[in-house]
Amino acid sequence: MSDVLNPFGESKIENYDHLFKEFGLKPIDSLLSRLPNPHRLFRRKIIIAHRDLDKLLDAFEKNKKFAVMSGIKPSSAFHLGSKMVAEEIIYFQKEFKTQTHYSIADLESLVDNKISLEEAEKNAIDNVADLLALGLDAKKTFIYRQSQQQDVKNMAFEASNHVTNNMLKAIYGKQHTGIYFAALTQVGDILLPQLPKFTGKKIVVVPVGFDQDPHMRLTRDISKKINLIPPGSIYHKFMRNLSGGAKMSKRDPSSMLTMNDQPHVAKKKIMRSFTGGRETAEEQKNQGGRPEICMVFELANFHFVEDDKLLKEIFSTCKSGARTCGECKAQVADIVAKALESHQLKKQKLVGKAKEIVCRQNL
Ligand code: SF4
Repeated sequence: MSDVLNPFGESKIENYDHLFKEFGLKPIDSLLSRLPNPHRLFRRKIIIAHRDLDKLLDAFEKNKKFAVMSGIKPSSAFHLGSKMVAEEIIYFQKEFKTQTHYSIADLESLVDNKISLEEAEKNAIDNVADLLALGLDAKKTFIYRQSQQQDVKNMAFEASNHVTNNMLKAIYGKQHTGIYFAALTQVGDILLPQLPKFTGKKIVVVPVGFDQDPHMRLTRDISKKINLIPPGSIYHKFMRNLSGGAKMSKRDPSSMLTMNDQPHVAKKKIMRSFTGGRETAEEQKNQGGRPEICMVFELANFHFVEDDKLLKEIFSTCKSGARTCGECKAQVADIVAKALESHQLKKQKLVGKAKEIVCRQNL
């Protein structure tokens, strides 16, 4: 199957290499030594590509201004893909002491998922509580809902002056007008940090999955036409779903873990998930397992085992055949359940603050 990249639908990538060529992305490796305390997503080559991250690093090293932005579509509970983006933003906020922006894309969930603004508000409060529990400093972040942010809507209208229907069709395929307007609203989100009220023109880097690159290319194109600096981006690999299939997605809730899953439910999902184990215990012992294709290992690697030494041990004992899938699943499920329990306890205490942040802009 060839790769499919659709920011408004399902995406699947089997070969990341050709995306570098096709979209002019650069491998991140040569920049790793310039990153302070590289996050595990960088250390483990889960973030693998970038566009203009070097410009942000130049600005950081020369004490010039820069910013990082991202966001979430408030269509459901915070899943592991949302967690990955949040961790990237938090990393930049902490290690680079940078200005951060976070958009709650409620207009996009309205047109793409038919979620009313009222329902999106409820989801947004829940999502922002997750964000705070993960460690985002709300005092240093501009968190807003698209529907309540006039500047974003103005930017979207301005952006619309510089595109034609044919251009949007070439980027996103044939879509209804609301989807095209959601894309232009994202252009507004990405360019917002360059407004004079946010210290003006600067390099802004956006952590994204590869499926979001059409938004980045459109925004870069429009930014040049309105005399702003083209935004940069960093790209992480997709977290596959628990059956080992395509990207973990809100569009298929049974295949994903969310930060709201009760720990015992998450444990059950992990015990049922796809592994790289062999047919029989004998084969596993003789040939070793295949952590490269295993969802249990992917959960540990992408999200829940922070300790590089422990991760290496899981990998090597799996490869050598010294580890059985049953004990391995139970070990990782236990780590995940404890992490969710601790996250949910923190989150409970932050719901009030999240509500205040989300609702302060109500018109
Ligand atoms: Fe996956 Fe663990 Fe089985 Fe290896 S031993 S295939 S890492 S579940």
